Amino acid sequence: MANYDLIIVGGGPAGLTAGIYACRSRLNTLLIEKGLPGGQTATIERIENYPGFEEISGLELSNRLESQAKRFGLEITLEEVTSLAVQEERRLVFAVGERYEAKAVIIASGAQPTKLGVPGEEEYRGRGVSYCATCDGAFFEGARVAVVGGGDSAIQEADYLTRFASKLIVIHRRDALRATKVLQERALANPKIEFRWNSVVEEIQGNDMVTKLILRNVKDGTRGELPVDGVFVYVGIRPNTEFLRGTVDLDPQGYIVTNARMETNVPGVYAAGDVRQKHLRQIVTAAADGAIAAMAADHYLATQRK
Ligand code: NAP
Repeated sequence: MANYDLIIVGGGPAGLTAGIYACRSRLNTLLIEKGLPGGQTATIERIENYPGFEEISGLELSNRLESQAKRFGLEITLEEVTSLAVQEERRLVFAVGERYEAKAVIIASGAQPTKLGVPGEEEYRGRGVSYCATCDGAFFEGARVAVVGGGDSAIQEADYLTRFASKLIVIHRRDALRATKVLQERALANPKIEFRWNSVVEEIQGNDMVTKLILRNVKDGTRGELPVDGVFVYVGIRPNTEFLRGTVDLDPQGYIVTNARMETNVPGVYAAGDVRQKHLRQIVTAAADGAIAAMAADHYLATQRK
């Protein structure tokens, strides 16, 4: 069984930044990522609010973070972590068919898109239902496309999808958007985008592919059909904390509770990024969390050595 000073679970901006700081502190560090380094960030087409980069793609920012971390000696393995166990000063991280040991762990496992939970969503996933505009947008050249949600993700990706779609309909359950003003202004000024306010999707229908949505107006209860070729769902995120199964304290929404030093209720176990209970989920705050967690872990390990 491989033994490390520090194991980082998750290779998004929080985990990779933690890796940069940990390796620069000469901690023997392993980062375990289940998919491609970058996490959700790697799926963002255009980032324009990460300081120092007027505009950068999520993939490029992820690649740069990964190579920067590797330059300082970060070891990265691509595996899915299934559980964590805490035994006195040992922290055991279980992946599929593997077991790793460390003295400290940073959980930076991020979040994933929430599902709408309506009939047709699972059935048409990959056949017109998508959660990633960067991945699937190009399939909708000249098509009528709906985006569900009114947050930053929905409005940013709706604007991006108009590169391909001939018509883009944003379906939002209220009559005011949650998204940052600059994103709202851009979407509201985009002639290809139309808004269906106070509306929710009740069902996704089609034949081989999606052909229409059944919408309900939440104000007057009326139902109607909206013909579309595809629908992108951006109704929030949920934290990837199932694998923790009671090892650290979570809030009612499943986010890990930490203090300002990113410490969880378990000594030597830290959390960073979107997986953590916090007020602002951004790449820049994920990176900051990662740096703080790594330095807190370094301090913890130094006190353990005394
Ligand atoms: P979000 O901010 O939680 O927004 C989710 C949206 O979906 C809200 O408008 C919400 O409506 C709506 N919604 C939730 N459940 C719904 C349901 N069952 N049916 C219909 N609509 C539903 O999620 P997000 O946009 O994915 O963003 C996640 C985090 O990443 C946020 O912290 C966001 O700021 C950040 N982010 C930032 C950027 C950026 O800075 N450019 C880009 C993407 C994401 P209500 O408004 O009525 O609640």
